[in-house]
Amino acid sequence: MRYISILGSTGSIGTQTLDVVRRDSEFKVLALAAYSNIELLKKQAEEFKPRLVCVYDRKKAEELSEIFKADGTDCTVVSGPEGLSEAATVEGADLTVVAVVGMIGIAPTIAAINAGKDIALANKETLVCAGHIIMPLIKEKGVRLLPVDSEHSAIFQCLAGEEHESVSKLILTASGGPFRGYTKEMLKNVKLEDALKHPNWSMGKKITIDSASMVNKGLEVMEAHWLFDVNYEDIEVLVQPESIIHSMVLFKDGALKAQLGVPDMRIPIEYALYAPRRVFISEDSMPDLSAIKCINLMKPDTEVFEGLKLGIEAGMTGGSMPTVYNAANEEAVALFLDGSIGFTDITEAIKGAMKAHSLKFEPCLEEILEAETEARNYVKGRFNI
Ligand code: NDP
Ligand code: MG
Repeated sequence: MRYISILGSTGSIGTQTLDVVRRDSEFKVLALAAYSNIELLKKQAEEFKPRLVCVYDRKKAEELSEIFKADGTDCTVVSGPEGLSEAATVEGADLTVVAVVGMIGIAPTIAAINAGKDIALANKETLVCAGHIIMPLIKEKGVRLLPVDSEHSAIFQCLAGEEHESVSKLILTASGGPFRGYTKEMLKNVKLEDALKHPNWSMGKKITIDSASMVNKGLEVMEAHWLFDVNYEDIEVLVQPESIIHSMVLFKDGALKAQLGVPDMRIPIEYALYAPRRVFISEDSMPDLSAIKCINLMKPDTEVFEGLKLGIEAGMTGGSMPTVYNAANEEAVALFLDGSIGFTDITEAIKGAMKAHSLKFEPCLEEILEAETEARNYVKGRFNI
């Protein structure tokens, strides 16, 4: 039996993780966490019977607690940041799946590692902002960090059985998003509904916007740097519009390994849960090679998609700069989603926040949160909000 906790269980990654878990009686879910979607959490609790659920929003948590009392459901309801960490560290769990969106993932991930849990990490913001804290802690506690992000899962699979010294370069692939081929001028006029139409992947709103701006790839370059201990100079990004090659590793002898597959997040989720074992998911996750007519690869246009360039710059600068990049983006994407700012304002806001920031080296958690507040305030101030 394997016991797990899932943070962000009502989201895109969370529900797909439950799809994988549902098929296998080897798994027992001990805790679930979400922000406020108690309708879905209630259904999930009925089906998976966790011992504990966290609803971050306190009012909604009270509501769910009353519902559970009324219908006799035996499940503790907790809330807020301390509740999220409680769900991350629930007693008896071997693995914590971190699939919440945003920097809120940092503290529960640290708590789970400290409690000796293996981590299946979808939440890239955590490594971007706190990779220098997370990676040594993973080593110290002797737990496993299993990537869920498809590119990082691909690299993880390519590296199986290889020595770190043999790696020459990581090649992260990107779809290029819905605006691939656009000019700067064309980007200025794009609408929210266009940005939300990802050509290949169905994901949560925030990461879908990040994919359209290519900020997602900036975050992923930093994520790869921390996960695989590779210098920024040795991480390349290539656009692969069909999203068939999920990423590649170039070795010192010139051998190139790639992981290919249909764009289905259940495959990297499954690998994070079972690695190095593999299990059948469904006929839909099987690639039809004869239907794939060609695979294109091209360099990204970082003049148009400045979000990627700024991400690499933030990573190379290090210290608190990746937090500023990430927090300014989180704030700006929220404003874009509610219609307050335009699409290209997102990268402009990131650029401005990075310029205004006084760098801190090796920031502790408190300093990371300070840099976050500063960047968020900068973005709000910039747009008078
Ligand atoms: P979604 O927006 O679909 O889901 C986010 C989840 O996090 C929801 O369950 C939400 O709850 C929960 N949540 C948000 N804030 C809190 C909080 N403060 N406390 C507890 N729970 C919270 O996001 P995705 O599933 O798309 O993405 C999750 C993470 O995985 C992101 O970091 C993303 O970058 C990464 N990722 C996602 C991929 C994808 O295919 N979707 C691919 C690779 C990485 P509620 O529903 O109540 O709001
Ligand atoms: Mg990805």
